[in-house]
Amino acid sequence: MRRADIIVVGRGLMGSACARHLAEAGCRVMLVGPDEPIDRAAHDGPFGSFHDAGRITRGIAEDPVWARLSTRSMARYRDLEARSGIGFFTQCGAMMAGPTKGPMAGMMASVTGSAARLGLVHERLEGAALAARAPMFALPAGSVAVFEPSGGVIDPRAMRRAEEALAVAAGTEVVAQPVTGREGAWLTLADGAQVTADHVVIATGGWAGCAPLTGRRPAMRVYQRTVAFAEVTQAEAERLAGMPSLIWVPEGGETDLYLLPPIRYPDGRFYLKIGGEADSPEARDAATLNAWFRGAGSPAAGAVLLEELRRVMPGLRIAGTHTGACAVSFTATGHPYVARVEEGVTLLTGGNGAGAKCADELGRLGAVAALGGDVAAEGLGAEFAPVFETD
Ligand SMILES: Cc1cc2nc3c(=O)[nH]c(=O)nc-3n(C[C@H](O)[C@H](O)[C@H](O)COP(=O)(O)OP(=O)(O)OC[C@H]3O[C@@H](n4cnc5c(N)ncnc54)[C@H](O)[C@@H]3O)c2cc1C
Repeated sequence: MRRADIIVVGRGLMGSACARHLAEAGCRVMLVGPDEPIDRAAHDGPFGSFHDAGRITRGIAEDPVWARLSTRSMARYRDLEARSGIGFFTQCGAMMAGPTKGPMAGMMASVTGSAARLGLVHERLEGAALAARAPMFALPAGSVAVFEPSGGVIDPRAMRRAEEALAVAAGTEVVAQPVTGREGAWLTLADGAQVTADHVVIATGGWAGCAPLTGRRPAMRVYQRTVAFAEVTQAEAERLAGMPSLIWVPEGGETDLYLLPPIRYPDGRFYLKIGGEADSPEARDAATLNAWFRGAGSPAAGAVLLEELRRVMPGLRIAGTHTGACAVSFTATGHPYVARVEEGVTLLTGGNGAGAKCADELGRLGAVAALGGDVAAEGLGAEFAPVFETD
């Protein structure tokens, strides 16, 4: 039986950051959760929503709470990289574009309003200036864009590794096992061992909804999402050097899509990634979520995404395509849940499709809650209080 001051369950983006903040504050931390599966199709345990090489990062967001969460996190990226020796941030800029008229016009008004209120450095681009700044994109006529030079792309696997490496350097013990049950502060691991602590932080991403370790199920919708990848040659990737990440509303679209510039993946090849389905099936239990992650997403959803990619980048020379599966967790409040939920237990979850870039600040808030502090007083403009299905 092993014991710590605080156990953080979930070695994903929020859990690893939370462990680092706690360990660097002097706590004896145990960080518990499985490694990323090597053979996805054969893995019968939990997956993480960070098993990828690219996530968009930007300070500008429609909701100022999310903007504060990300700008605070982004301000610490370079320090995390320097101290861990693990690079994860490519500052290629982030662009958001949408129409000035029609039902989606409000998105760009909120984005520019939020950027101005928070004093975030950005350029507002339209017409010829927009075409000159991003010649690789064929955005719908009448689009307005906001370009944030300090945004770009993070490698979520590398960022997680950096957080965990620093947590370990500060004394954290890593236990590479899923938790299969909890009774109070006692956790049972998949290998049958038990661990305990004075306090437990549950940071299990979408599994917090599908396989809750809290007494009650947090109110969160966990969606099975498809992403599509377009492979390009190294020469094509070099031609696109300087391409920012893009979030945009396609012609007549009722929701926005996102696109990442070419990234070299662990197989050594370059891929652009596109995602942002308006709707997709929900997962309510661990078996459904596990089955989804074991697969490669929906071919039909992938085809729609790739069609949009060809429309917004008509000059792109695509060498091959494939799809992948991931999951996003939307809370009832639209903000993450970060709070003590029962004696000795803190819940830290609810990325709402935007949690990667903000994970370091969310991990810090998780540490504040676990240590008995008041998360609502941290100046972010939200309480982060969870809603439960029985509420
Ligand atoms: C396709 C896609 C694109 C996205 N794009 C962006 C983007 O561009 N920018 C952005 O900021 N965000 C993006 N996100 C969201 C972001 O990736 C998530 O918000 C983030 O990963 C959530 O972090 P988390 O720590 O809550 O969960 P995760 O990162 O999923 O980590 C949860 C961890 O908990 C572990 N776990 C689960 N159950 C147990 C258990 N019982 N015992 C132990 N461990 C357990 C899992 O193995 C996993 O390691 C995207 C998400 C998806 C799916």
